[in-house]
Amino acid sequence: MEKIIDSQNNTKKTAKRRSGLKIVMQLIGLVKPMIPIMITAIILGVLGFLCAIFISIMGGYAILSISGVSQNSIDLSKIFAVVIIMAILRGVLRYGEQASNHYIAFKLLAIIRDKVFKALRKLAPAKLEGRDKGNLISIITSDIELLEVFYAHTISPVCIAFLTCLIMVIFFAQYSFVAAIIATIAYISVGIILPMITSNYGKDDGNKYRQRFGEINTYLLDSIRGLKEVIQYGYGNIRIKEIDRQSDYLADLNDNLKKCEGKSRANCDSLILIFSFIMLITCAILNSKGKMTIEGTVICSMGMLGSFGPVTALSNLANNLLHTFASGNRILDILEEKPLIEEVSNKEKMSISDELKENIIDCKNIDFAYLGNADEIILKDVSLEISKGEILGISGKSGSGKSTLIKLMMRFFDASSGEIKISGKNIKDWNTEDIRNSESYVIQDTYLFVDSIENNVKLANLNATHEEIVQACKKANIHEFIETLPNGYDTIIGEGHHQLSGGERQRIGIARAFLHDSDVILLDEPTSNLDSLNEGAILKVLNEERSKKTIIIVSHRQSTMKIADRVIKMKDGRAS
Ligand code: ADP
Ligand code: MG
Repeated sequence: MEKIIDSQNNTKKTAKRRSGLKIVMQLIGLVKPMIPIMITAIILGVLGFLCAIFISIMGGYAILSISGVSQNSIDLSKIFAVVIIMAILRGVLRYGEQASNHYIAFKLLAIIRDKVFKALRKLAPAKLEGRDKGNLISIITSDIELLEVFYAHTISPVCIAFLTCLIMVIFFAQYSFVAAIIATIAYISVGIILPMITSNYGKDDGNKYRQRFGEINTYLLDSIRGLKEVIQYGYGNIRIKEIDRQSDYLADLNDNLKKCEGKSRANCDSLILIFSFIMLITCAILNSKGKMTIEGTVICSMGMLGSFGPVTALSNLANNLLHTFASGNRILDILEEKPLIEEVSNKEKMSISDELKENIIDCKNIDFAYLGNADEIILKDVSLEISKGEILGISGKSGSGKSTLIKLMMRFFDASSGEIKISGKNIKDWNTEDIRNSESYVIQDTYLFVDSIENNVKLANLNATHEEIVQACKKANIHEFIETLPNGYDTIIGEGHHQLSGGERQRIGIARAFLHDSDVILLDEPTSNLDSLNEGAILKVLNEERSKKTIIIVSHRQSTMKIADRVIKMKDGRAS
């Protein structure tokens, strides 16, 4: 339970609060490529609402025609014909508007998803390590989905409301200046002032709701991942209680939000009736003073009552916008987050020449501490030279910084001070992609995607042929095992499919490294899950590669270290 509270505090600290206006402006910025469709949507929307309004105005003409009070009354049958045409048009126009808006919205959601993935890709791995995964998932799925409300039901409705109201005010002005003023005040009150007031009711709850929703995701994910532990230690009830507690809290928040929504709807309806009534009374008074025709009185009153459609659309929006702003804020946070490592991509392509005289990797006086934990120095003044074709062993106690050193060589992080050179050039001056291409990195825990074994190995080199994949698997001593599987290389592995043991996964990881065919191989405890038979086989292959590759191997196993030309020992962040 403490962990949850903790994670909340953390996320609160890091989340940036933008003003509603800033979020809106930034979100609108993304619409630029779709302006023509947006304009179409707005025009169709305005025409649609005008049709709807004129249906009620036609009602006014019908009253005039039946009562016979006006001289220039319109024939009833003509009125009916116009109403029917307007009604049909209204439907068609509304359809057109909605279709255009949704086209824009879903296109944009795709664009935003793409942007978020690219941003995450840049943040990885330094900033994603240890990040709240549940929250990330809820940003990628439900937060982005919620922006649909903004793009399909916010931008153009605002424009539509503005234009329609403008047209109506001009229309009223033809009958009476006073009527036009009343209409203006009415539209502003219902469409702008009221939503502004009511949107403040539930603003904090909206933000809290999104935040908590992400946290519940995390908690559930955590519980599912730890299912074995939960069952073994009878931890289930406590986890369930916590989930219940969180769900109740979410339900309460949602309750509050719904209440705010109900309140603002009620306020909105009352306001509409009040303004329509004011219009009616005012027009009646003007009429009695001879300043307005009876026709004007009826048309203005009917027109007023029937013309709140576009502004109520705005007023209802305010409630949805609470969620949208919170979501928008979280998405913008990710889009704007600066990666720890600026990727380099405009440099000359890396080529490690055969006659390389210098050390292939050269670490000089490296200090390093993880971000957010600057007090705990992980590496202190580490200097290390690795020449081409060498096999270097790194040993040391768990937590002594071995893996961290390897990650610095992959440029997953940058050293706080000191410098790492690859092939004689500072690691920051190489294209980041080239560094990753020139080094194969095998970690203790190999991740397998839900895909065939073939594809799981192939991801290390997408151009590889089946033969090459088999060759790599043979080197990693996993080929024979794969052959025993019912579908061989086509067997689907990964979560929910054929499960591999720790050692088998590790050997797939090693097969990937062989297939990647890079100059340098970085192995971080590659044999930790292997029995001595498999270990021996793989070490033998590594030994055979020694003329062609440079190998750095981290291990605390004596047996693994045997193939190393030289072994350094990490202790308290120092290498010796
Ligand atoms: P080793 O591989 O030698 O066991 P590591 O390099 O993995 O050690 O870790 C060294 C220290 O750095 C450990 O104390 C660990 O807690 C800390 N550490 C590792 N990764 C991170 C991280 N992403 N953020 C903060 N601290 C970390
Ligand atoms: Mg380690």
